[in-house]
Amino acid sequence: MAVLKIVKYPEKVLETPTEEVTKFDDELKKLVADMFETMYAAPGVGLAAPQVGVSKRVFVMDCSGGKDPAQKIAMINPRVVMKEGEQTGEEGCLSFPGIYFLVMRAMRAVVRAQDVDGKEFEVDGMELTARCMLHEKDHLDGVLFIERTSPLKREMVKRRIRKLIKAGDW
Ligand SMILES: [Zn+2]
Repeated sequence: MAVLKIVKYPEKVLETPTEEVTKFDDELKKLVADMFETMYAAPGVGLAAPQVGVSKRVFVMDCSGGKDPAQKIAMINPRVVMKEGEQTGEEGCLSFPGIYFLVMRAMRAVVRAQDVDGKEFEVDGMELTARCMLHEKDHLDGVLFIERTSPLKREMVKRRIRKLIKAGDW
């Protein structure tokens, strides 16, 4: 396993819709293992393939931060089959280090996906689990969390990043 380099905004791959996975081979298993390693090392609770420069429909998550093996989940080709309710909470993203703001998401989400062997499964998640699945699923469509806030807030965040880039701190 290896810790991969995390791609930061505004790299193009982050805003490019990803491709469906069709081969459930050793290469996919290695990518998923490396993504878990990278997520735990960051540390973070979710990581999508475009964030390591791979434009495929794959994400990993663990809302327990490595404490509960049942929450260590890799989702391949995920689709949101149900969403309900609302929650507003602070969100961050490993591609936007140090940047956090309030994002409204569904309170509950049911996501159907395939595992590394191609077998279908479903996660019915509330609160942080729902937030995490929806944030990571957005990444696979090339949608970043700055698109889930107001235009004013989005401009403030972008301006802050431009300043950090200019100062060599990004
Ligand atoms: Zn993210």
